[in-house]
Amino acid sequence: MVLTPKVSFEFFPPHSAEAETQLWKVMEKLVPLSPSFFSVTYGAGGSTRNRTERVVERIHSALPIPPAAHLTCIGATRKEIDNLAKNWWDAGIQHIVALRGDSPFDSPKFAPNPNGYENAAALVAGLRRVADFEISVAGYPEKHPDSPNVAADLDNLKRKIDAGATRILTQYFFDNSYFYRFRDAAAASGITAPLVPGILPITNFSKVLEFSKKCATTVPDRIAKQFRGLEDDSETRNLIAASIAIEQCEDLLKNGVCAFHFYTLNRAALTYAICWRLGMRPSLNSAADAA
Ligand code: FAD
Repeated sequence: MVLTPKVSFEFFPPHSAEAETQLWKVMEKLVPLSPSFFSVTYGAGGSTRNRTERVVERIHSALPIPPAAHLTCIGATRKEIDNLAKNWWDAGIQHIVALRGDSPFDSPKFAPNPNGYENAAALVAGLRRVADFEISVAGYPEKHPDSPNVAADLDNLKRKIDAGATRILTQYFFDNSYFYRFRDAAAASGITAPLVPGILPITNFSKVLEFSKKCATTVPDRIAKQFRGLEDDSETRNLIAASIAIEQCEDLLKNGVCAFHFYTLNRAALTYAICWRLGMRPSLNSAADAA
């Protein structure tokens, strides 16, 4: 039997007042689906810290959905990160997505701050010392590009769980076979934390192609073919994008997946349509149930 899934939605902090107004409209549209949480990213190099904080605090105070604040190790000392986390905990924000982060675009390779956390596993351990947070971490069905091999990537993931993380949100992928292999390998290595696939509805195919090269996500030919010739036709592209994501999620559901993390890119329509097609209806799920 295929059940209605639990979902969570990811947003990035808006760059302008207009974009912020738009983001609240997007969130209002998605609230009735009762997601487990709304997560808010932390810009590359820690660049959006204040905006991330503002959005997270507003979700917490104004919406019935719990926020999850992304936090990276970049550009801050351990003490600064601990203080920030303590302030969040005191303000009632109890869920953190703990990440290493990437160096700013002009720096070629990640280099830890000498007084900072050296990676996500160290950050998780630090957060555990601050308070009893719910902590999600990143997982990579196609391996993180910095990892020498799949086994090393899995060891790194295991360290994050052993340090106290409670959920894995994956990098987006389009070929489910990578996810199934990753899930089997994680289970074989003793990882029992929920593994939640990251789903990226494709709003802009050429940007997705470019970004996928950087994060080593495979874009299958069968998907590329569907967008060919639609460069100037965003309406049809959106319909195609919805059908691709629906097909992907339906296959995952049939194969035992019961929660999805959507990269919304601060847009509601595609994500809402996909959730609807998967059987979700306004207020059908309980927001209080974590994925
Ligand atoms: P880690 O798990 O710490 O490490 C990733 C890889 O780095 C490891 O597999 C390993 O190869 C290498 N590594 C780590 N520690 C060591 C070590 N001690 N020695 C040698 N190699 C090591 N980025 C942002 O900037 N802001 C965000 O809000 C954000 N949100 C994200 C949300 C999700 C769900 C995902 C999947 C990614 C997100 N990212 C975000 C991207 C993420 O920061 C990058 O993928 C980053 O390169 C790795 O972060 P991590 O937490 O996976 O790192």
